[in-house]
Amino acid sequence: SLHVIEVFFGTMNQQFSGLDLNASGHQSGGASGASKGRYIPPHLRNRDASKGLSDRESSAWSCGRDKDAYSSFGSRDSRGKSSYVSDRGSGARGRFDDRGRSGCDSAGSRDRAGFGKFQRSEHSRWCERSDEDDWSKPLPPSERLEQELFSGGNTGINFEKYDDIPVEATGNNCPPHIENFSDVDMGEIIMGNIELARYTRPTPVQKHAIPIIKEKRDLMACAQTGSGKTAAFLLPILSQIYTDGPGEALKAAKENGRYERRKQYPLSLVLAPTRELAVQIYEEARKFSYRSRVRPCVVYGGACIGQQIRDLERGCHLLVATPGRLVDMMERGKIGLDFCKYLVLDEADRMLDMGFEPQIRRIVEQDTMPPKGVRHTMMFSATFPKEIQMLACDFLDEYIFLAVGRVGSTSENITQKVVWVDEMDKRSFLLDLLCATGKDSLTLVFVETKKGADSLEDFLYHEGFACASIHGDRSQRDREEALRQFRLGKSPILVATAVAARGLDISNVKHVINFDLPSDIEEYVHRIGRTGRVGNLGLATSFFNERNANITKDLLDLLIEAKQEVPSWLKNMAFEHHHKGSSRGRSKSRFTGGFGGRDYRQNSGSGSSCNNRASSSRSGGGSHGNSRGFGGGGYGGFYSSDGYGGNYNSQSVDWWGN
Ligand code: AMP
Repeated sequence: SLHVIEVFFGTMNQQFSGLDLNASGHQSGGASGASKGRYIPPHLRNRDASKGLSDRESSAWSCGRDKDAYSSFGSRDSRGKSSYVSDRGSGARGRFDDRGRSGCDSAGSRDRAGFGKFQRSEHSRWCERSDEDDWSKPLPPSERLEQELFSGGNTGINFEKYDDIPVEATGNNCPPHIENFSDVDMGEIIMGNIELARYTRPTPVQKHAIPIIKEKRDLMACAQTGSGKTAAFLLPILSQIYTDGPGEALKAAKENGRYERRKQYPLSLVLAPTRELAVQIYEEARKFSYRSRVRPCVVYGGACIGQQIRDLERGCHLLVATPGRLVDMMERGKIGLDFCKYLVLDEADRMLDMGFEPQIRRIVEQDTMPPKGVRHTMMFSATFPKEIQMLACDFLDEYIFLAVGRVGSTSENITQKVVWVDEMDKRSFLLDLLCATGKDSLTLVFVETKKGADSLEDFLYHEGFACASIHGDRSQRDREEALRQFRLGKSPILVATAVAARGLDISNVKHVINFDLPSDIEEYVHRIGRTGRVGNLGLATSFFNERNANITKDLLDLLIEAKQEVPSWLKNMAFEHHHKGSSRGRSKSRFTGGFGGRDYRQNSGSGSSCNNRASSSRSGGGSHGNSRGFGGGGYGGFYSSDGYGGNYNSQSVDWWGN
């Protein structure tokens, strides 16, 4: 076992040098090290977190709350201010405040990058305009807001590798994919914000999804967090809203009585399973609604509803919500979906896993949301079990199915290491790994249980590492604070349970460590997908021992598929496991071809009510060969009944028909 560790560290050193994770910069500073000063004891976390939260909240839309700016606005153009106040009434005032102030605040400043074409008239035009006016024209820039929204940036993007990810689009009259953002007309505001966000070219899912959504086709996409799927739906939706304007929604809000005016009628709704994911989508929406009249909002459970209601009342054109909290808001009369033209279900499989189906159906089918075919619906899911297919049948109209190769399995951006570590040696092995990691690198450590997360965090703290932890028992504030500390690099080690595996958008994670491997290979893929995101290089190390026997075969297949080094003991174990006759009853790995799902319409018979035999087009990963028949029987023939579906099949035909 000593030899294994030596060999491992030899390889690891090479890996670290490739990733610029030099052993010299380790984080361990002993119990009195500098890093320790940053640790926030559990009893103080809420207090700090609430401060952090309110800071963030107030800065998020500070423009509308900034008294000085407001008065300077008046002094600049009192006409604008008074016309605005009288036009709006109390319900919509805050919303206009936000936009108005940001415009007037920087009335004298130069135009920002990306909006070179925008010409400001002598007096700020917006001050005299109403919402019925042209929503497609950008509002004046705000240096402060721009700094806040776009200063993060993405560095180290390795698009060449990312481009190889195969994508297949199936469905009738599928629009051709684009190569550049400029290949499709998304208008001045979106193009300016794409430039500010420094998105130089679309990711594979964006290349396909943007033209599909622009052509108002419904979409079911198999793409994961990390693939750029958020912008893939936000960009075309927002661009369409800018082109079309608010339409009836604004009229409805105005025609309502005083109380009802407080009810908001979003034009677009994005449903997401977790608070973390909802906030990420919201942050992305803020970027792409910069200089527009669209005001995005986010609501999620576990946080103060009063504050969220007050924020909604300031105007809401695009709403990101977790299902439970949205139902609550609807029942309180705060949200009406009567004019919701765009519906997105993000991580639909996870929402069903979490038991949100009744709430989703309540929102989509049993309220005032326009029916399918009238609204435009997009569904994103990493896997396609039967329940998801049923939902697609019920919610989508003549949709295009988009299968995007998994980031994390086929991607060579992630180096995956599997090492044999006995249970009792895990902590010391982890310390060695952390000491070999550069102090600026973010490391995510996954453990199986909440208790395990707490005790590992305590252990690392006592060893002098600045770390935080995140799991289901932590309050929302604690989780947000831990994430913030991690993102800022103040606690560059984050100990997490599976609950945090999804939806985390942390661009700089260099190393994912599976301290405890999951029993489920899907979960493994999600976890390692936290590194090597959008073309960045990453490393994933997994501690394996006899407790993980159940994942052996799937893990082996995945490593082979991703062209990773496979330890010989793992091969032997997989062989033994197979010949002992596993009770799992699967003859084939679910990882064939690198997709989380495929269009079941392709191999279903005529029995399915929403079936329309689809034609297909494919791009990327050109070496995969020709598309042949996928075989398979009737509806669901490609999907197993154990809730995964799509990734493996009972036929001896893989994803690519080989
Ligand atoms: P998502 O899969 O939507 O969670 O996106 C993952 C990350 O990729 C986010 O930080 C996005 O800001 C970033 N991103 C999305 N699209 C692009 C692009 N075309 N170029 C660069 N970064 C992108």
